[in-house]
Amino acid sequence: MNMELSCSQVGALMSFYMENKLSAMLKQYIQRHLETCPACAKKYEDFKNIINKYNNVVDDEIEIEFKQYSEFKKNISAYVDNELDVSENVKIKKMIISNPAARQELENIYTLQRLMHSAFDKTRNDIRFDLSKKILTEREIKPSFLKRIAKLNFFENRPSLDEP
Ligand SMILES: [Zn+2]
Repeated sequence: MNMELSCSQVGALMSFYMENKLSAMLKQYIQRHLETCPACAKKYEDFKNIINKYNNVVDDEIEIEFKQYSEFKKNISAYVDNELDVSENVKIKKMIISNPAARQELENIYTLQRLMHSAFDKTRNDIRFDLSKKILTEREIKPSFLKRIAKLNFFENRPSLDEP
């Protein structure tokens, strides 16, 4: 089978041809047309250049974004701890406003901080509980001990001073 493609058919298939999405036979038809039709060959070259330029721009943007993001990740805990200078601080803030992934990262850090805080509170409560226990134990051993700690108000109900 020998088929001649028209210029408009080649034009319609051009992007598929460039992305290599056509059957071997169609590819051959287009190739042959481009070799013999300067107008379509020129169109094809222009098209290819535009696509390449576009791809390069996208690559550059991705690379810049990636660099910014790596820097952001490096600086975000310092940001949370308020250890950055003003210009770094502004950079991070811009990033948080413009980049959803950065916002998520910040949210993760805050969540982690909250978890650490509540873990710390728990530990503090445990220590307080242990201290109360220790005091109660000593109280059993030495009733006079109570008189010494009564002023400190460790208990919600202040222990009575009247005990012997
Ligand atoms: Zn043509």
